[in-house]
Amino acid sequence: MKTIFAKGNRKGHVFNDIDIDQRFLRKELLIPDFCETDVVRHYVSLERMNHGVDNGFYPLGSCTMKYNPKVNEWAASLFASIHPLTKDNRGCLTLMTELSSMLCKITGMAEFTLSPAAGAHGELTGVMILRKHFGDTRSKILIPDSAHGTNPASAALCGFSVVEIKSDARGNIDLSDLKEKMADDVAGLMVTNPNTLGLFDENIMEVTRIVHENGGLVYCDGANMNPLLGRVRPADFGADIIHLNLHKTFSTPHGGGGPGSGPVGVVGSLRKYLPVPRIVEGTFSYDFPDSIGQMRSFWSNFGVLVKAYCYFLALGEDGLYQVSEYSVLNANYLKNRLKKTFHLPFDRPCMHEFVICDEGMPNNVTTNDIAKRLIDFGIHPPTVYFPLIVKGAMMIEPTETESKETLDKFCEVMEQIRRDAEDNPEILKNAPNNAPVRRLDAVKAAREPILREIL
Ligand SMILES: *Cc1c(COP(=O)(O)O)cnc(C)c1O
Repeated sequence: MKTIFAKGNRKGHVFNDIDIDQRFLRKELLIPDFCETDVVRHYVSLERMNHGVDNGFYPLGSCTMKYNPKVNEWAASLFASIHPLTKDNRGCLTLMTELSSMLCKITGMAEFTLSPAAGAHGELTGVMILRKHFGDTRSKILIPDSAHGTNPASAALCGFSVVEIKSDARGNIDLSDLKEKMADDVAGLMVTNPNTLGLFDENIMEVTRIVHENGGLVYCDGANMNPLLGRVRPADFGADIIHLNLHKTFSTPHGGGGPGSGPVGVVGSLRKYLPVPRIVEGTFSYDFPDSIGQMRSFWSNFGVLVKAYCYFLALGEDGLYQVSEYSVLNANYLKNRLKKTFHLPFDRPCMHEFVICDEGMPNNVTTNDIAKRLIDFGIHPPTVYFPLIVKGAMMIEPTETESKETLDKFCEVMEQIRRDAEDNPEILKNAPNNAPVRRLDAVKAAREPILREIL
């Protein structure tokens, strides 16, 4: 498809004959000349080439690409006209206060800051709290080898050196490796539970006990909160700090780079370090001498907070309980069917997602081939080649909002792909066969992106 620049050669109206001071005339305005119909058609056809949860299945593991109620978008739009500096903002502050206490209730934490604008930003906030707490007395952070890449990045950004902890044969943190590496100079452990294999760490109480016994703190990456809602409070398994991803778990469409929200909760003893402003008696307060400082503008990504708040009110406690129930049920349903056709490296009940891989595929068919072939069937590929500890990983998260019919259809497509790998591998090697673009050089696209059209 041509870009709108390449299409544009029509001339609209030109104001040559009016008397304007030439200095104020823009000489070369490089925008194409089109009428509204042309512009709308151009962008709607572009939009139709896109794939999102509104037009198909999107089992992108670790990302929770689920249906987000449209009514929450409407609710967020009600706040769009409020000026950030308005004096009459009690309603907004009340919403933030109530949302924070809902997050405390879900996680068992003492207080939440709603400041951070994304998960990684929440991690940075949490690790800065660790830094403030320990000063320069402890220089290392332990991170399991299954962690999301943002975890070591956040730790390194705050000047900690990262020590990797191995996973054991069941996909848990290797306890003997942890014991060996947990020393006096370790500030804490960043742990994702359930981890990126979709597995709940069976020894989590022991893991956090070891860290605490050695004077460390436990940072929980709570981006995988879906399967725990209403069942497990991370504070109860020993988390001292946690971030949640409102744009994964609590009703904000996720993708395209935002806006997101990564609130951070802490236990009582760490409250004093939370970023400013904090809401005290219905107003913003900056008077916290031990605070790590301000992480972003005081309202944060307010629309995202409104959507999460509405989601909680609409679902209630029973609804949240169902979210975790169905997210776990859907993932286990898919896993148990797909493990008959694909290799499942960790064969035990999973939480909201699971990992299969390309081991044993005939004709050198790889995970990449399978992912590209799914596009031909109108299905977004799962997360591929992550987590790194599984070679050729496909990380599948169906989410709780998909029907059994959709899950069955996905299994049929995956089974068809497995048969084609045997009988017709070319169709996989050439995939995608019917997408707007064929197989791209993904490395070149990431390393040397061409982000503007060269005119
Ligand atoms: C998505 C995710 C993050 C990072 O969140 P962003 O909002 O993308 O910055 C961190 N950890 C895990 C486990 C995640 O799934």
